[in-house]
Amino acid sequence: ARGTGCVTLRGAQIRDLLDAKHNVLFDCDGVIWNGETAVTGAPEVVSLLKQRGKRVFFVTNNCTRPRENYVQKFSRLGFTDVAEEEIFSSAYCSAAYLRDVARLQGKVYVIGCGGVMKELRDAGVPVAEEEDAEPGASIYTCPLDPDVKAVLVGYDENFTFMKLAKACCYLRSPECLFLATDPDPWHPLRGGRVTPGSGSLTAALETASSRKATVIGKPSRFMFECISSQFGLDPARSLMIGDRLETDVLFGSNCGLTTVLTLTGVSTLEEALAYRDGQEPQQKDCVPDYVMESVADFLQALEE
Ligand code: PLP
Ligand code: CA
Repeated sequence: ARGTGCVTLRGAQIRDLLDAKHNVLFDCDGVIWNGETAVTGAPEVVSLLKQRGKRVFFVTNNCTRPRENYVQKFSRLGFTDVAEEEIFSSAYCSAAYLRDVARLQGKVYVIGCGGVMKELRDAGVPVAEEEDAEPGASIYTCPLDPDVKAVLVGYDENFTFMKLAKACCYLRSPECLFLATDPDPWHPLRGGRVTPGSGSLTAALETASSRKATVIGKPSRFMFECISSQFGLDPARSLMIGDRLETDVLFGSNCGLTTVLTLTGVSTLEEALAYRDGQEPQQKDCVPDYVMESVADFLQALEE
């Protein structure tokens, strides 16, 4: 095998890896569930890891739900012992960033959905009201709020040209922050369909504003800092398990974590090998240390 990484995990190796780690960070969609269906064995793996004294965290770029809503989803899908404090979403972390890092003095204009709005409200970050589009509203006459000091872009099924135009006007001011919940390009849906991700909306606004957004979700280090500031994790004793090389694995590399790619989601072994064996040095950060078919492969090591 050329290069390093992409080692297929088996038997005793799995046990040794778990022995060496104290914290396990799971991506959600594509790793522990696909949409509304749990990955077979995933709830048992999470429970057993906890019983073995591991600390478990969930790190998702999905900004559409507030944390309390995730707690319900976990329990609905058979994960019986997951607490709100263990769930770190790009919506929760974006709100934490605006409150604690940017210390926003003013309002944030949001292109996004209910999950983002709820987390911002819970964090006490003022949001610019979006009036319902009136008939005849135009890019010349739609009101702009002079208190807006940040624009945050996330997944928004009600994305419109008007929202893009307004955000673009706010970003003319260099003092106005430009944040993105996550850079995900698209997501798989049932039946072979896909939906455009937040990253595609951010890209439109980046082009329109000639600016680059600060990304809060994976692969940015900020999500790990968020977890670390609350739980004090040692990166060397932490494992990141994901299904997307350009977000989850790169996130792990950026934060100094050991990375595992599972093949129940977006990225394939071939794509991982292509990064490993390709010429571009910066692609090496997308190469997982280990590859496993599914998180269920942890079961045997945990049940003994
Ligand atoms: N954002 C949206 C809107 C999604 O639907 C999904 C996956 O379903 C994600 C992000 C990615 O979530 P995760 O980081 O848990 O894979
Ligand atoms: Ca995923």
